[in-house]
Parts: sequence; C-alpha cells; structure tokens
Amino acid sequence: MIVVPESAIADLISSAACFTAVEQVFAAMARNSAYNFPVVRESIGYADALYGFKSGFDRESLILGLKAGGFWPNNAKKGLTNHQSTVFLFDADTGRCRAVVGGNLLTALRTAAASAISIKYLAREDAKVLGMIGAGHQSIFQLRAAVQQRAFEKVIAWNYHPEMLGRLEQVSREIGLPFETVDLDRLGAEADVIISITSSFSPILKASQVRPGTHLACMGTDTKGKQEVEAKLVAASALFTDEVGQAITIGECQHAIAEGLIAEEDIIQIGAVIAGDAKGRLSPQEITLFDGTGVGLQDLAVASAVVDLAISKGVAIEVDF
Ligand code: NAD
Repeated sequence: MIVVPESAIADLISSAACFTAVEQVFAAMARNSAYNFPVVRESIGYADALYGFKSGFDRESLILGLKAGGFWPNNAKKGLTNHQSTVFLFDADTGRCRAVVGGNLLTALRTAAASAISIKYLAREDAKVLGMIGAGHQSIFQLRAAVQQRAFEKVIAWNYHPEMLGRLEQVSREIGLPFETVDLDRLGAEADVIISITSSFSPILKASQVRPGTHLACMGTDTKGKQEVEAKLVAASALFTDEVGQAITIGECQHAIAEGLIAEEDIIQIGAVIAGDAKGRLSPQEITLFDGTGVGLQDLAVASAVVDLAISKGVAIEVDF
C-alpha cells in the first residue's frame, strides 16, 4: 500500500494535472462508466463534528475508493484545518487497499478544477473581467485556476465579510491582475465570469444584477438549504452541473426545483459537454450557470493522479499492509 501524506501533496501535483484528472472523470460520468455512490454525512454528536464518506468507481480508469472526513469546527483553536479529509483508494480487481492520500489540499484543487472546467467549456471566449463572490479558504484556489482559462484583465470581488477580501487582492497581485472590491450591482454589471464560493444560506446575487453573456460558477452550495443566487437567476440560465442528482437536492438548483421554476431535464451534465455529446453555450447573450456540487469521483481522480506522480517521482512511501 502507498501512503502520500498531506505534506507531500503540494510538491507532487499541479492545478493543471488536477484539471485534467477532473475533466476526464466528468466525461466518464457522462458516459455512465463512472458512478458516485450515495453520500453519507452524519453529525457524530461529539466535538460538533460532521463526518461522512464520498465514494465511487470509474470503470474506465479502474479508480475505486472513498474520501472520508468532514468538518471539525473547533480545530482552528488547535492550529488545525476545520475541514479534514483522507482519500482511500482500492484495487478494483482485488479490493485491497492501494493507497491512503491526504485529502485537504486535494479538495481545494479538485473544486477549483471543476469551476475552471466550467469556464473552459461555457464562458465566452472574450471574457475579460472575473468576478469573485466569497473570500474564504477555497476562494484563492478558485481564482488561481480560473485565470488559466481566459485572458482575464481584471478581478473584481465582493464578500459578506469584507475584511477577508485581502487574500484575493494578494493573489490577484501575485498573478499580475488589477483587483477592485465592488458592490454586487457593479460585480454583476461588469463581470464576464462570476464564481461564488461561500457558505451562504440565502441568495446573494439577484437575476436583475447579472447581464447577458455572463458565465456563473456556483461552487459554495453543497448542502440542503445553502443558496448563493436567486432561484430566478437559476431559472434564467442555461444550466450545467457535475451531477444532476446532487444539483437538484444539495446544489444551487435545489431552490429553483422546489419553486417549480425548472425541471431536472433542464440541467445538463458538464461531462456530456466535455465528451462532445451535449452543446455548451449556445450564444454570446446566454447566461450559463454551472452548479458545482462536488462529487467523490473528483477526489478519487486527483488522489489517483497523486499516487501515480509519487510512484513516477520515486517518492511513494510503501507500507506492507
Ligand atoms: P470558509 O469558511 O473559508 O469561507 C466561507 C465564505 O463564506 C467566506 O467568504 C465568508 O465570508 C462567506 N460567508 C459566511 N457566512 C456567510 C453568509 N451568511 N452569507 C454570505 N457569505 C457568507 O469556507 P471555504 O472553505 O472557502 O468554503 C466555502 C464554501 O464552499 C462552503 O460552503 C463549502 O461547503 C463549499 N465547498 C464546496 C465544494 C464543492 O465541491 N462544491 C468543495 C469545498 C467546499
């Protein structure tokens, strides 16, 4: 069995490699050859923790495994990350444990890869202004991955807690892009691509604030009840997602579905666009919205890529297990 500790991940895998791994598994999902199994998420009644599993199998790459972990809100006081996760990969032929891989950085990288993939396939080619809603831990990964996909000339941002916006300004400066904090009216009026990555439980962005031709990547809503944009905006958009079943139950689409504004059939799996089996953006005026809910297969794909890299670079830790 191979062990790749959390501390080794940053030196092993690039965001470009994560992008490729996630793009491939999204396409495999659309071909129905990769499956996510039902998600388990439980409050354990100890340490205020939420704990669970995301698992799946990709028959094309024979990647089988699970990500275990969750949210320990008191970790920060101990100098630890609140979100903790570990990926376990299994040999699809024998069921033996193939690898244990730190999952914290990989979660941020695979989530950023998903929105970057949506920009690659759905944003207008001439997109120039990137709008960010959210300035938490994930936001800077989202920003770094997004700027790889279009020739953005400026980053504008809004956050519920404005004091957190400094981290986005710093990363924008590192990338070499001008940065400005704006209100939501300006964000909607000026951005060509908008990424939302917050833990909001009520709509932040309204349909009236978004102009035609915008691409939205809604990445924060991954639980029942969470919401980042008005259901009316979802209904006004061409809709894409990683997994339709999750979009309508725990994703941004859950509210428009509950209000009867859209039907499940209105939502296209992004993998079908990647595989060439569905159309993406149909016109420069269309508003496209990617509902990124986060699936286990994303975690397994990037963890498997890490294991391959650790082996090829000769740094894999082998354990007799
Ligand atoms: P974080 O705690 O570091 O940051 C939270 C963000 O939400 C900050 O910008 C904060 O200002 C904002 N926020 C908090 N309360 C708010 C409110 N009431 N209204 C509006 N905004 C509010 O979290 P993070 O690690 O950056 O994750 C952000 C979100 O992304 C979380 O909801 C997380 O569950 C989700 N997430 C999704 C995926 C996926 O695959 N889709 C993966 C990882 C995380």
